[in-house]
Amino acid sequence: MEATQCIFCNLATGQMPSKKIYEDELITAILDIYPANPAHLLVMPKEHKAIFAQLPKATAERFGLVAKKLSELIFRVLRPEGLNIFIANGAIAGQKAPHFIMHVIPRFQGDGINFEIAEKEAKIDDVDALCSKLRKDVLNYFPEQKFEEEKEEKSVEQRLEERKKPKNIDLDRITKMFE
Ligand SMILES: [Zn+2]
Repeated sequence: MEATQCIFCNLATGQMPSKKIYEDELITAILDIYPANPAHLLVMPKEHKAIFAQLPKATAERFGLVAKKLSELIFRVLRPEGLNIFIANGAIAGQKAPHFIMHVIPRFQGDGINFEIAEKEAKIDDVDALCSKLRKDVLNYFPEQKFEEEKEEKSVEQRLEERKKPKNIDLDRITKMFE
């Protein structure tokens, strides 16, 4: 999808009218006109990106801070009993359009919204195997990360040298699901 055809690009950049609550050079937050609850906010990057992993670093960092402050604002002004911050990455996860959206949803007793997450049984061996698999690659994202099990003291440079080299990650396969 071209950015110019994307309704959320147009909302984020002001090409389409909206009930804007916050805007900076990277992000716009508006009131959802189909809210799950009153004051349901849509927080969007101005740049057309589909999923969280594709956001530029500065935009991703800004999202954390903006979400914190918007949730404070809602807690203070509207006094909800709770609040969900929700992101769907990919159609299978419930994403409806290929433009990244962080939903900020105030919650009230008996509001009928259900975010219940399943709790499946897992075998401890499977969890251990998954843990090792993820830790092999974590240095590519967090070069300073260390785990208590590491026996030898190695420099970050040594550890980066020995790391599992990243494969080309095809995030487009997630966004292609919308086409
Ligand atoms: Zn867009």
